[in-house]
Amino acid sequence: MMANSNLVPNIRIDDKEFKLFIEEAQITASIQKLAEVVNVDYHDKNPVLIVVLNGAVVFACDLLKQLSMNCEMEFVKISSYHGTASTGNVQIKLDLDIDIENRHVMVIEDIVDTGNTLSHFIPLLKARKPLSVKIASLLLKPDALKNRFHVDYAAMEIPNEFIVGYGLDYNGKGRNLRNIYQVCD
Ligand code: 5GP
Ligand code: MG
Repeated sequence: MMANSNLVPNIRIDDKEFKLFIEEAQITASIQKLAEVVNVDYHDKNPVLIVVLNGAVVFACDLLKQLSMNCEMEFVKISSYHGTASTGNVQIKLDLDIDIENRHVMVIEDIVDTGNTLSHFIPLLKARKPLSVKIASLLLKPDALKNRFHVDYAAMEIPNEFIVGYGLDYNGKGRNLRNIYQVCD
């Protein structure tokens, strides 16, 4: 999992320094593996992918390109993070504008940390009577596991450190980085 951070310079965003954590090639390989499983599970299902903005958008696009079944993509915006910590105060900032009744739904997240965001959002989705709801996340932190939050498809598990890059931000910045970086102590 660990990348060779000696070869790639640290980056600075506002008041924080970050070091290389997961290289682009490893991210790509983990998404390919995840897509192979999803392609089998959903081959006859025409799912709606519900992408959680903003962070999951980069992962969602790369995953989408690896999917072989008919599928649709929609977006919601949910926020719970401020700076480098989850606030527990979950807000739906942009809701779905399609009917998901009798549809197979797959929620696409960048990272599941405490599980607060999705444990708030999933019941709202289920109330709309989809046929099924599953979660695909690029990353999973151990706290999520501690809270027994079930993520159906997770590309990678990581320790409890704040990360940026590949869609994930610090103060809105860093989403454009191709690798994933970890905050320096
Ligand atoms: P949760 O509600 O599961 O604690 O956190 C979910 C959301 O918080 C994620 O979708 C993501 O947007 C944000 N988040 C969690 N951990 C990190 C992290 O290490 N870095 C960044 N940039 N965002 C995170
Ligand atoms: Mg997110």
